[in-house]
Amino acid sequence: MPVKHNPTGEVHKGQKGGTTGCGVNTSLHSDHWSNSSGAITCDKNGCKN
Ligand SMILES: [Zn+2]
Repeated sequence: MPVKHNPTGEVHKGQKGGTTGCGVNTSLHSDHWSNSSGAITCDKNGCKN
């Protein structure tokens, strides 16, 4: 399931409470993140591929 970074609107691979494909720990600012059904928009390695 993709996870959305609310302040930027960017959608990353991963899930809330885990680490995104590009290596961001979503548990550090858990209120910034929400599970999403949208397409991944992050273009960093690990999310895009
Ligand atoms: Zn990402």
